[in-house]
Amino acid sequence: MTMCARLILGVCVLASWIAAQISGVAYTVTVKADVLDRTFVSMTVSGTAAEGVSIEMPAWSPGAYELRNYWKLLRNVEATDADGKTVSVTHPSDVRWTAAPAKMPVTFTYDRLEPASGLFGAEGTKPRSGKREHVAFNPTDTYAYVVDGKNAPCTLKLVVPDGWKHDVPLAPGGAPGVYTAPDYDTLADATVEMGKLRIHTFTVGGIRYTLTLDRDDPKFPMESVENLLRPIIRHSIGMMGGTAPFERYSFQMHEGPGYGLEHLSSCTIAVPYFLLRQAPGQFDTLFAHEFFHLWNVKRLRPKVLGPFDYTGPCRTKHLWFSEGVTDYYADLICWRTGITKDEVFRQNLLGEIRRLQSNPQRLKESVAAASMSAFDRGYSGLSTLDYYNKGKLVGLCLDLHIRRETSNRKSLDDVMRDLHAAYGLPKAGFGEDELFGAISKSAGVDVAPQLSKWVDGMDELPLIEMLATVGWNLEKRAAASVEGAESRRRRPRDSWSLTPMRITTYEHVEALNAWKADPYTERVPRE
Ligand SMILES: [Zn+2]
Repeated sequence: MTMCARLILGVCVLASWIAAQISGVAYTVTVKADVLDRTFVSMTVSGTAAEGVSIEMPAWSPGAYELRNYWKLLRNVEATDADGKTVSVTHPSDVRWTAAPAKMPVTFTYDRLEPASGLFGAEGTKPRSGKREHVAFNPTDTYAYVVDGKNAPCTLKLVVPDGWKHDVPLAPGGAPGVYTAPDYDTLADATVEMGKLRIHTFTVGGIRYTLTLDRDDPKFPMESVENLLRPIIRHSIGMMGGTAPFERYSFQMHEGPGYGLEHLSSCTIAVPYFLLRQAPGQFDTLFAHEFFHLWNVKRLRPKVLGPFDYTGPCRTKHLWFSEGVTDYYADLICWRTGITKDEVFRQNLLGEIRRLQSNPQRLKESVAAASMSAFDRGYSGLSTLDYYNKGKLVGLCLDLHIRRETSNRKSLDDVMRDLHAAYGLPKAGFGEDELFGAISKSAGVDVAPQLSKWVDGMDELPLIEMLATVGWNLEKRAAASVEGAESRRRRPRDSWSLTPMRITTYEHVEALNAWKADPYTERVPRE
């Protein structure tokens, strides 16, 4: 950038600063039990805005790498000034609404339609009859932000039907149903559950955790979920330095097709209710995955993933790390804490190996390219090359490679801690070309050549070689060829097995024990 351009940019930034200086935004969200298709939102914007206040709706939700165009959910956008007089509102682009200059504070009101496909929909539902008993939303589909005002402190007030409860992982605002956030990013990452909920709390290491269920079912096994989560929480915090990076945390469980979504101080677990109620333990790695995101992606992240640009795709080649390595740790944490046994851990890994090795796309597309195109393909397109799947196995190979090269003095655990210290919030995150070098520096081993092949390239991962270091035998039996009409119907698949070696050495045993060791859980008090 030339000096001239910098000067012009400086003048522009100064002009917009003078034009709008927002000191606070107060949101009110109102739910009416007998209005099923929409929620009512108002936002009062304080400060100065000589050219009028503009608001925009986000195009996506951080953590869900898909464009959703939430502006499609808004209806009846109107504005009033400090005296309650109507202010004219223009709609200069799909995402933006602008109120004419007026006496501040200016209040926008709008209806936000219920998304047709749950938390990730961007089309409104058809009106239904009956009464509502539960509303959950992903804040980016509900709260508009003030253009040039995202850094202003926010308050949130929930107005709900009688008898409803609510759970929002934000600081309480001094009155029932009122919460505060230091800025829009924090507000927009705090999920909201409202309704006839069941709420259960417990403490670990002095921090209060909330378990929220989307219905008041007294028979739901809350204690089983708590007992499942306690070791996951203690191990994760112990591994990442011993101190929780949050003041409160909510696990919000509601009916859904089977996904989780991480947030700054909460996660959404959206799975079929009858399965969760029957055996919550089957979702152990889903809970562990979302909880470990607290560090990997919510705080230690690629630079482009925060502060968020909500207007369009934020592309990074490192979702293999942010998602795949998080998934590797989900399995590892459950194994090390004894939630899953050796055989289950091995079978889970084997399942991932089979998925990758039966996918011919792995030889045509790098996981870096798959990550870069996440916004173009959506979750339904993950079957081309899944950066969760390959990223997890890159994490496995990277961990075992570091352990072998350092005779178990270092591991991926050290790398995660060091990267979090070097790049985690409030720092800016790692650059696209910084990650391999930073991992090498932490490990004390130059892993850039391997990662270039595994992440940027399409080389086969050395899974057999790496798993052999811990005395596990990964074996591939080539599929028998299928002839004639049968060959056109189904592609022959190799069969894979993963078993402990019949004869293991002292080195194998030592490496396996080091990999499975849990020096972390006891670092965090039980209560
Ligand atoms: Zn994830």
